[in-house]
Amino acid sequence: ESFDEECDYLFKAVLIGDSAVGKSNLLSRFGKNEFCIESKPTIGVEFAYRNIRVGDKLVKAQIWDTAGQERFRAITSSYYRGALGALLVYDITRKSTFESLKKWLKEVREFGSREMVVVLVGNKSDLAHHREVNIEDGRSLAQLEDLSFMETSAKENLNVEEAFLQMITRIYQLS
Ligand code: GDP
Repeated sequence: ESFDEECDYLFKAVLIGDSAVGKSNLLSRFGKNEFCIESKPTIGVEFAYRNIRVGDKLVKAQIWDTAGQERFRAITSSYYRGALGALLVYDITRKSTFESLKKWLKEVREFGSREMVVVLVGNKSDLAHHREVNIEDGRSLAQLEDLSFMETSAKENLNVEEAFLQMITRIYQLS
């Protein structure tokens, strides 16, 4: 019996944030072992599936990555359509990526569904010696905007699983 037949929930989530903050690396880290990346070149996105057990339910998450389209500001409503969750990623070694978060949050509110679960992720925690954004700044923004928050390292595989699972568990709880 395949997982698909048993799957209780299927949902879509998106990765957002400035270029080169580590979105693709986070996604391939999270998807490792049990995913396939498919791409839709026509709309310029890539996505991965991951099967997760939440309690006694099987959940299939379809996670979209921009495949670099954010550079051209080409992300639009079709990217967000139907998404129940988002990982909003910045790079702790580049303050400009943190300052962009306001713009990203505005976009999420404009295009995303009202009850979208957003987890704020400060990536590249392995580069703490080049840090330009304090962990407290991430934490207080998250608190202000009512988001979950964590720092991750896609490179060292720190907290990556936790960040995605936090999002998925919250989506599941709200559904
Ligand atoms: P995207 O444009 O947001 O998808 O970013 P990428 O995943 O392509 O990563 C951009 C660059 O940052 C690449 O050179 C990655 O190797 C590097 N990178 C991504 N995540 C990490 C991380 O956690 N730590 C370090 N040191 N480098 C990272």
